[in-house]
Amino acid sequence: MARIGFVGLGHMGAPMARNLVKAGHSVAVFDIVQSAVDGVAAAGATAAFSAAAAAKDADFVITMLPAGEHVRDAWLGQGGMAKAAGAGATLIDCSTIDVGTAREVAAAAGKPFLDAPVSGGVMGAEAGTLTFMVGGPADAFAKIRPILEAMGRTIVHCGDAGAGQAAKLCNNMMLAAIMTVTSEAFVLAEKLGLSHQALFDVASKSSAQSWALTTYCPVPGPVPGSPANRDYTPGFAAALMLKDLGLAQMAAKDVGAATPLGAHALELFRRFVDEGGAGKDFSGIIAMLREGKV
Ligand code: NAD
Repeated sequence: MARIGFVGLGHMGAPMARNLVKAGHSVAVFDIVQSAVDGVAAAGATAAFSAAAAAKDADFVITMLPAGEHVRDAWLGQGGMAKAAGAGATLIDCSTIDVGTAREVAAAAGKPFLDAPVSGGVMGAEAGTLTFMVGGPADAFAKIRPILEAMGRTIVHCGDAGAGQAAKLCNNMMLAAIMTVTSEAFVLAEKLGLSHQALFDVASKSSAQSWALTTYCPVPGPVPGSPANRDYTPGFAAALMLKDLGLAQMAAKDVGAATPLGAHALELFRRFVDEGGAGKDFSGIIAMLREGKV
């Protein structure tokens, strides 16, 4: 079993670290919020007194932090994690951040460093069924795969440094546009006198079938587990979708890719968040569309 350092014990990091403990690994954990550390320590992890202390002596060091600036600071700046990690350690960042920062940290870390963002949300983190999209050297990927398997079900090597983040932001840009147009279709159906169930029964078996429709259906009823049935409690919060759409647009600008629907989805989600939707599931954007506020 491996020695693992884990830093960032929020909604995602805490259940991920607990699953590593459950798999029998020896896990040292740190977060700037002491109660987060205490919570995971109660499940069998060791509390570290700093990010560097969690990294020291570990075979694998993992971060799960909010954004690029936190990741850069933790590994290369004040956190000092890249320096503190031992010569044989493999470093993994599971946060969703911009491709540029992922590549910059990987290049400066001085040790094998992989970006491994996830999809599957808090439910996937708790159930250990996350999808990991990984960027970094193939030999390091082979090493980290068994560690990621304790937290996820689907693990894909996407390419070199930054490729995991690229896959994540492309996936979420597609998801945002698909969810938006699925919501538009339900609102149009309402106005045409077509029932939610009838549209669902047709579209879920036809060419418009999608995860947004069959798992996260934006109206209550057809998919009982979807956030629409619990007043759009996330799930995947609109604020996080807005963040990912911003990262996608940043990347598109950097490389000169045309992403007109992605850009428009960003504007729609910005408005939804500005009007109080930040903490709602992203499928809650249907309410804004229904009100015609676009
Ligand atoms: P969160 O805000 O709940 O957790 C982040 C944690 O990092 C917090 O506990 C915070 O105290 C800690 N932290 C911040 N700076 C730190 C530092 N310097 N040292 C140590 N700890 C520090 O966020 P989350 O929902 O767990 O998301 C984490 C990452 O995963 C984000 O990049 C997010 O975009 C991504 N993500 C989230 C979801 C989701 O559904 N929540 C799904 C997929 C990906």
